[in-house]
Amino acid sequence: MTWLRFAAVLAFFLFVPAAGGALSAQETEPAESAFPLPDGIDRGEVLAEASRRHAAWRGFDELEYAQMSRLGIRLVRGKHIEFYTDLDESKEVDSIPAVLDEAVGQLALFFGLSPDLYKDWHIEAFLISDREPFEIFGAMKRAPDFAHGYALESRIWIYDQKQAYYNRFLLLHELTHAFMNRTFGDLNPRWYSEGIADYLALHRWDGKKLTLGIYPDNPDEVPGFGRIDRIKKAGRGKNRKTLDDVLDFEADDFLDNDSYAWSWSLVTLLFHSPRYARAAAAIPYLMMRSDANRLFLEMLGDDRVRLNRDWYEWIASIDYAADFTSFARDDLPSRPLSDPIELTLSPKEPGWRSTGIRLEAGKTYILRVEGRFKVYENDFDRSLPCEASGISLRYFAGAPLGQVTAAVPPSGPRSVNPWKGAVPLRNGVVRLTPDVTGPLFFRFNIPSGETKKSSGSLTVTLSPER
Ligand SMILES: [Zn+2]
Repeated sequence: MTWLRFAAVLAFFLFVPAAGGALSAQETEPAESAFPLPDGIDRGEVLAEASRRHAAWRGFDELEYAQMSRLGIRLVRGKHIEFYTDLDESKEVDSIPAVLDEAVGQLALFFGLSPDLYKDWHIEAFLISDREPFEIFGAMKRAPDFAHGYALESRIWIYDQKQAYYNRFLLLHELTHAFMNRTFGDLNPRWYSEGIADYLALHRWDGKKLTLGIYPDNPDEVPGFGRIDRIKKAGRGKNRKTLDDVLDFEADDFLDNDSYAWSWSLVTLLFHSPRYARAAAAIPYLMMRSDANRLFLEMLGDDRVRLNRDWYEWIASIDYAADFTSFARDDLPSRPLSDPIELTLSPKEPGWRSTGIRLEAGKTYILRVEGRFKVYENDFDRSLPCEASGISLRYFAGAPLGQVTAAVPPSGPRSVNPWKGAVPLRNGVVRLTPDVTGPLFFRFNIPSGETKKSSGSLTVTLSPER
């Protein structure tokens, strides 16, 4: 009874989101210190309750094996995976069981559990070109009408997407659901279970090595994925989702593909910042509770306000090859402005950066802006000279490339865009009258993946208007 060992045997691993977002896990100190759980939640009890729920699963009727070859269905056996398909033999299709087998061990490590616990775990995976033979085969008995893929108990189904990458992606997505449902007893909240299934399913596979949880450098690396392009379209428009919108997603919301994109975006942001990754890693242990979102937000504490800021920054500027360092950066300690001060701003730092200088609501400040810098464009391998107003020959995130903006964001409540009142700068004199009291922030409008090779600086002399 391997599963009962969940309650007693906990192998401890620390999940570390590695640079670039790839999955890595290493054996280290007890997981209690890696990602604490809210008071009253016990790891062992959660896993044991999930095992009790598993014991009550209905299971599936035996498949019509005698009819299998007549129906044109073939079976490829892996270690954990029995893989059924009506697609012709090919290197890509027939490597799927090996990919999913490898993924099982990696999922265990990601969730801080020993792969040994899964040594007897079996999944039946169906990659379907034509549903009808699978109906006769008895493989679809408890499967609903689904659009792309579905997971139920120990079965996962997907329809052939005619793209090897996207087939593997969808199977890994459904495998993650099956793994989490088995391990953590449920799949709530939905934003998290869908978001993390997408997050982990985004992979690299070179025929030998599998890497889950990648962040793509370009669309060609992840054919069929498309989530980044969806958010690029919607991240600044009126269809933009607030954090609360995403947290409140229900099962029906996922009839709309955009909901996957929003959920993936949020999970990706969480796991790419040490500020949020620990609380995010605790959520699986809350999945059987109806108040999982509340407990998650409580775990974030004061970082909730920051998460709202980072969310709006992330969805407004999302792109391939993103650099996440701005989400890990701490704000500078706050201090008042008494005398004029000269600030040097570098385009190398992505995202909004705090100056720590506290401005007062309703007071007018003068910003004297000087200097030139260069924006490096990856696609063209060239540097474009630029002033504070940016270059209108290329737009990024709805504004000229390189444009520098200043803002004093409100410190709450959630679900209000804190960057809404940002003021665009230009070389010369700019006046700024903040609506709220708080620290001043600046941002260069440069895709985060293009900041490193940008150069030069801008000087801003800041003084109160007398
Ligand atoms: Zn799903």
